[in-house]
Formats: sequence, C-alpha cells, structure tokens
Amino acid sequence: MLSFSQEDKALITEIIDDIKTLIEAEMHDPESMKISEKYSMPVSELAAQFNNPVLGNLFKSAFDFHGMSAILALWTLAWMGSGGAGYPIGGSGPFAKSIEERYLTLGGTISYKSRIDKILVENDTAVGVRLVDGTKKRGDIVLSAADGFSTIFKWLDGKYSNDTIKGFYETLEPFPPLVFVSLGINGDYSHEPHWLWFSLKTPIEIGGEEIQRLWLRNHSMDKTLAPEGKTVFSVMIPASYDYWTQLEDKQEEYLVEKKRIEGAVIGAISELYPDIKNNVEVIDVATPLTFVRYTGNWRGSYGGWLFTKKTMSLRMPLTLPGLSNFYMAGHWVAPGGGLPAAAITGRVAVELMCNNENIRFTTSMP
Ligand SMILES: Cc1cc2nc3c(=O)[nH]c(=O)nc-3n(C[C@H](O)[C@H](O)[C@H](O)COP(=O)(O)OP(=O)(O)OC[C@H]3O[C@@H](n4cnc5c(N)ncnc54)[C@H](O)[C@@H]3O)c2cc1C
Repeated sequence: MLSFSQEDKALITEIIDDIKTLIEAEMHDPESMKISEKYSMPVSELAAQFNNPVLGNLFKSAFDFHGMSAILALWTLAWMGSGGAGYPIGGSGPFAKSIEERYLTLGGTISYKSRIDKILVENDTAVGVRLVDGTKKRGDIVLSAADGFSTIFKWLDGKYSNDTIKGFYETLEPFPPLVFVSLGINGDYSHEPHWLWFSLKTPIEIGGEEIQRLWLRNHSMDKTLAPEGKTVFSVMIPASYDYWTQLEDKQEEYLVEKKRIEGAVIGAISELYPDIKNNVEVIDVATPLTFVRYTGNWRGSYGGWLFTKKTMSLRMPLTLPGLSNFYMAGHWVAPGGGLPAAAITGRVAVELMCNNENIRFTTSMP
C-alpha cells in the first residue's frame, strides 16, 4: 500500500500499527477496546479517508462485507497475522469432523438426522426435546446451538422472551442469505489469484437482482478438493430471501431458475477465463432455501447478526428469562457471528452451566 500511495503514509502506518497492537492484545483488553471504538465505522467510511481514490476504492472492495464495522477487517488481519485464523485445508467438512472427534473423545454422543420441533418444559424448567417423529428425549439440561428464532419463538412458543430479545429479531440486521455456486473445472488455474473481485462487462440476474460484480474463489491452493489438473471455483452472492421463499412451493420454477443461474455464472466467469465455458464438469447451485433446509437458520442467514456500530458492544443473554436448565450458544447470541462466535459462546455457555451447578469449570486447553 505504501509503494502505491505515499500520500496515504500516515493513515496506512496508523492502520498497520493498530493491527500489530491487536495481534498482541486480547479482545477485551482496554487497548483493543479503544481500537475497536476507533474503527467502529463502516469500511466505506474508513476507505473514504484515503487521499488516493484508487487505493480507497481497492480497500473498500477488499474489506467491505455487508457494511460491517471496519474493526472486523482489522481483527481478521490480526488473527491471520498471529496464525489464529486461516483457511482449513479440506474446507468445512474436515473442520467439522475434527470438532466431532474431539466431542466423542470427551465422551459425548451424537444423534444425527434427529430434527427437533419442540423443547420440552415442565414447571418452567427445560427437561428435554421432542423430535419431528414424536420421539421425546429427556435431559438434565438443554442447550440449543441451533437457530435462535426457531429456538425462542417456535420450539418454546415465545413463552420465555422479553422486549429486549424480541427487539433483536425486529430491529437488528442479520447476515444475508446466499446463492452459492460451486464449479468443478477441467483445467489448472493454480497460477491464478485465489480470490478475485471483478466487475462484469455484462451484468447477470440472480434471483431477481442485477449483479454487476462477482467474488470468485479459486480453491487451487487446497489440493484435497480436486484431482491433479482440475480446479474448484466458488462464487458467493448475497440474495433476497423473499424472492426465494415465493419459489418454495413452485418446484418446477425453482429448478428452472437454478438451471438459469448455472448458465449465467458460467457466462460471467468466462469473461475472465473464456476457456472454462467448455470445461465445467460439475456444478452445484445452493440457494437460500438450500441453506434453510440444511441449517434451519432464520431467513437463510449465513452468519447470524452483522457486526456494526450498533451491535458491536451488545451483549446477548445465553439464557432465557423465566426458564431454568436452559442455555443457548452459536452465532445468534453473539453479534458478528461466524465460527469464532459459535466457539466462544459454546465455551461461555458451559462455563455458565458449571457455575449454576457448582462445578468448577476446567479445560484441557487454554
Ligand atoms: C458459505 C459460507 C461461508 C462462510 N464462511 C465463514 C468464514 O469464512 N468464517 C467464519 O467464521 N464463518 C463463516 N461462515 C459462517 C459460519 O459457518 C456460521 O456462522 C457458523 O457455522 C455458525 O455456527 P452455529 O453452530 O452457531 O450454527 P450452525 O452452523 O448453523 O449450526 C446449527 C446446527 O443446528 C442444526 N439444527 C437446525 N435446526 C435443527 C433442528 N430443528 N433439529 C436439530 N438440529 C437442528 C443444524 O443442522 C446445524 O447443524 C460461513 C457460512 C457460509 C454458509
């Protein structure tokens, strides 16, 4: 950045110094809280402070995620700088598998394909869950790490809520749902950048919206994803939830739209790599309805609540008012969402549980 724009030396140096401070600091140290406050503005506002408009524009393109606070970009760079964040080879499958293995090693058990439709309550105490097939499973404590809206307003019928909690779901902005297109290409693109953000000569229409720019991920650096000489590309496009829900009961129209999106996305990538047109061997289009089907997340959101100036200092409760033996964890109880929020809230929920049960909270990990 310095070699590109000396006129922005002061701002660039300040941002880099602040990232270095974050690398050394804990998230809730007074020093990092001060930096968080300083960068609470949206990325677009920070980008506007660059004197060089091209650099400002590049900065915005690289780091502006759904209008979230600039501090998120700084934290991400700090975590990457310290080796605490990165890309898991193999993608999310092996990543999830390693958590499953750890849980099983600790003595946990898992029942897959067990969809819950009610949390069982007796005398304002959670006593278990009911599955969609009617099976009841009792437990001493219930912890919901699934969708927040379903947990509070469907599985508990909204009986254990208050205006603050209702207000979250009425006023806060969640991460958007996605159209996610994955492509298996017969060709080697390992010499190409692993992430590209490019403007389309001919905009495409996805789910009723005009798309003028595309984020293209080239997964060449992960050799586990494709055979030698072949490449996985993926494209992540924020989508309109309402557009897709109106196709929920129109299977034929839904499939036609998915097919049309395949062609539109291949055409768009061909603007950059003309050869791919004839070399797509596999293609998969996931829509907001796909994400709801697999994860149950409210309005197809892919990450819970956005991290903004309004939500960054918001502490959400991991319990519900008036309900005993019940806890929540996951991206719906910590603004900013994502995997860090899911992991941290899981740990805090168990800490809270131990506290309430008079058990000393210990871990074999720091
Ligand atoms: C394409 C994509 C890319 C992403 N990239 C990143 C990234 O780079 N970095 C990052 O930090 N985050 C990323 N995220 C976000 C991240 O995956 C989520 O924020 C995180 O998985 C949230 O974890 P969670 O445990 O709170 O919820 P979830 O992962 O949604 O887990 C909820 C679980 O509850 C289960 N469930 C739901 N309903 C029921 C029911 N009725 N009965 C039983 N079980 C049920 C679901 O099957 C699911 O297993 C990405 C998400 C997507 C979709």
